[in-house]
Amino acid sequence: MSNTLHVFSNEQELLEGMWPTPLLKLRIGKDVWGKLEYYNAFSRSVKDRTAWFLFKQALINNSTQIVEATSGNTGVALAALSAIYGIKFTMFIPIVAPKVYKVLVKILGGSVIEAGYSTNDIIPLAKKFAELSNAINLDQFNNPLNIIAHYETTAREIDEQLKSIGKTPSRIIATMGTGGHIAGISKYFKERYGDNIEIIGVQPSKDSRIPGIKRQDGKNSLLEGIKIDRVIDINLEEAIDGVLTIARTSGILIGLSAGATVAAYKKLKGDDNTTVLIFPDDIFKYVDILEQTLKEI
Ligand code: PMP
Repeated sequence: MSNTLHVFSNEQELLEGMWPTPLLKLRIGKDVWGKLEYYNAFSRSVKDRTAWFLFKQALINNSTQIVEATSGNTGVALAALSAIYGIKFTMFIPIVAPKVYKVLVKILGGSVIEAGYSTNDIIPLAKKFAELSNAINLDQFNNPLNIIAHYETTAREIDEQLKSIGKTPSRIIATMGTGGHIAGISKYFKERYGDNIEIIGVQPSKDSRIPGIKRQDGKNSLLEGIKIDRVIDINLEEAIDGVLTIARTSGILIGLSAGATVAAYKKLKGDDNTTVLIFPDDIFKYVDILEQTLKEI
């Protein structure tokens, strides 16, 4: 169990002891909050939660090798957990994904296979590779444990954190990659508050690339039967503007997908409702991309 002095006798305690992650009141509106998912201990992203729920499945199955397709953060989290438990880990990742994820997975002792241009390209490759090498493919894109992880942790935390100050959320704005965290959050809040809460999904606009998230134009099994009230398209420049806004008001350094939630918030009318933005990770993996753009600002 965690305690307030943060002493942990093993890594599982450390992982779960970082929950709940902080909910910070932002200065960009009257009642708007950021859920700081970079407080997760391993990938320093929201994906620690998904990875841990999926990883427990591999432990139950006594798996000795894990293969996963990922845009990056899930790979880092799974590589960390695999290192702790002595399991072999292979990550499939798009060629175009930021290099930092590939370096981090290698540092953690994992193997990296680069292929294709989006996660859609590598999902079948990872599946096939797992079959051929007698490994388990946890398949975060189709595994309901990805939803359950966020239903049980991310969503419940937000609800309890806001309740502790006498609030219930009216809007939650979240980005979409696998769709796991928005699905868990939507399911949790719609079950309890119905349409009193609006779930707003954020995706990259056409021809724009924002690491970790993708356009939901294909079939997404995790989002089947999940209500997303509105989807907002954000381009990379708008996401960067969101990062700068939070840096220059709250002094915190959020990642690009987090910046996209800020950009979506700015596009929405009406400022009085309690709004929560999910900040999946922080800036440090994307400094190269920001440096490029800042030169032009
Ligand atoms: N932002 C970042 C930085 C991510 O790594 C991810 C996960 N791919 C997401 C957002 C989207 O999260 P999810 O997979 O739960 O939709």
